Amino acid sequence: METRIDPYVDTYATRTMGMKASAIRALFAVANRPEVVSLAGGMPNIADLPLDVIGTMIGDLIKARGPQIMNYGSAQGDDRIREQICEVMREEQIEAHGDDVIITCGSQQGLDLVTRTFIDPGDVILAEAPSYVGALGTFAAYQARVVHVAMDEEGIIPEAVREATAAVQASGGRVKFLYTIPNFNNPAGTLLSVARRQELLAVAKELGILLVEDNPYGLLGIDVPPQPALRSFDAEQVVYLGSFSKTFAPGFRTGWVLAPPAVLKKLVLAQESATLCPPTFSQFAISEYLSTWDWRAQIASFRDMYRIRRDAMLRGLDDHMPAGATWTHPKGGFFVWMTLPEGFDADQLMGRATSHRVAFVPGTAFYADGLGSRNMRLSYCFPTPEAIYEGTRRLGEAIKEEAELRATFGLTIPRTQPEEIAP
Ligand code: PMP
Repeated sequence: METRIDPYVDTYATRTMGMKASAIRALFAVANRPEVVSLAGGMPNIADLPLDVIGTMIGDLIKARGPQIMNYGSAQGDDRIREQICEVMREEQIEAHGDDVIITCGSQQGLDLVTRTFIDPGDVILAEAPSYVGALGTFAAYQARVVHVAMDEEGIIPEAVREATAAVQASGGRVKFLYTIPNFNNPAGTLLSVARRQELLAVAKELGILLVEDNPYGLLGIDVPPQPALRSFDAEQVVYLGSFSKTFAPGFRTGWVLAPPAVLKKLVLAQESATLCPPTFSQFAISEYLSTWDWRAQIASFRDMYRIRRDAMLRGLDDHMPAGATWTHPKGGFFVWMTLPEGFDADQLMGRATSHRVAFVPGTAFYADGLGSRNMRLSYCFPTPEAIYEGTRRLGEAIKEEAELRATFGLTIPRTQPEEIAP
C-alpha cells in the first residue's frame, strides 16, 4: 500500500498529541465478531425498552410540535427537561433548581465543557486510580497533567487526596479539580461508602479543591438503593455530571451538568461555542418519555436484568479463574475489575484471549501513567448470562495456557495476535 505523507504534519495544534484512539474503540473490530464473547465494551443493554411505545410517543410529538422540537433551542437546554432532571436527581437526595442545570451531549460532553472551563495546559487533575478511559482522553486533549489517587474496595481514599495534593504543590503544580466516579466506578466497580463521601468532601473543602462527580450509574445499584450523591451534601464544592445513557438510551446523547451558578455561566458560554445548543429533538423526546412512562419501574427492570448478568459473571469467575487472581464484587453498574496473578500482563494476554474467542479491556487503558498491567476490565452489561459465563470459561482457559507457556518458556511468552482468532 502506498504510504502518504500527511501534508499538515507541522500544522496540528500541540493538543492533538494527547489525542489517542481509545483502547476500547481499538478493540471493537475484534470484540464485535460473532464468535467472540465480548466482556470489553460497556454498551448499555436496552433491548427491554418499550420501543413501540417510544416510537408512537416520538411520532405524536413530531406531529404535534415538530417545528419547535426540530429547531434550535437555548444553549442551556429546555426548561422543562431541566426541571425533570431535578426530579431524577432527587432519587440521590440532591435538592437543585433547573436554573443550575445545563444539558449536554451525553455526560462525555459535560466532561469536555468542565475541562475546557477549568484547565490550562499543565494544570493538574486528580483522578481515581483507575479512572474512566473517556475522561482520561478528554483530560489529555486539554493537556492536563493527571495525577492518580489511590482507591481501595470502598472507593477513593481521602487521605491519599491530601498526600497527592501536597506532592503536586511541592512540585509547583496546581490542582484544578478532582475527578471521581463514586457509584460503581468505571472500571473498578467500587462504591464509595457514605462515610468516605463526607470525609472526601471535608478534605476537598479544606484544600479548596473542586470535586467533579461523574455519576452515570448511580441509579443502577443492584444490591443497594441509590446512595446520597456528593452533591447532596454540598452545592458549592461539587460539579455533578449526569446522563440518560444508562437509565434510558445512549443514542439520544443527552446528559447534564449541575454546577454552582458562577461555574454554570461559564459552562453555558462554553456550550454556545461548542454546539450552539444541545440537541433539541433528544431533549423533547426524553422529556416526553419521563412524563408519560414509569421511568422508575423501567430502571428497576434494568437493575434486575443487570443483576442476573453480574451474578453470571461472578459465578463464572469463581468457577474458572486460577488461584492468585482477584476481582471486585460490584454492587451495581456494569464492571468487574480483575487483578491477574503475579507476573501476568493483561496487554500481553489479550491476543491469547482473542484466540480463545473472548475480549476484555486491559487495565493500562484506565491509567494515565502506564500502571494497571496486571488488571483487566470485564463488563457484564451486554451479553446474555450464558455468554458471560462462557466468556469467563474461555478467559480461564487463556490464562491457564499462558501460565503453561510461562512455565515452559520462562518469563518471555510469545505474543499472539488478534488475527489468530479461530474461525
Ligand atoms: N462517565 C462514565 C464513567 C462513563 O462510563 C461514561 C460512558 N461509558 C460516560 C461518562 C459518558 O457517557 P455518556 O456521554 O453516554 O453520557
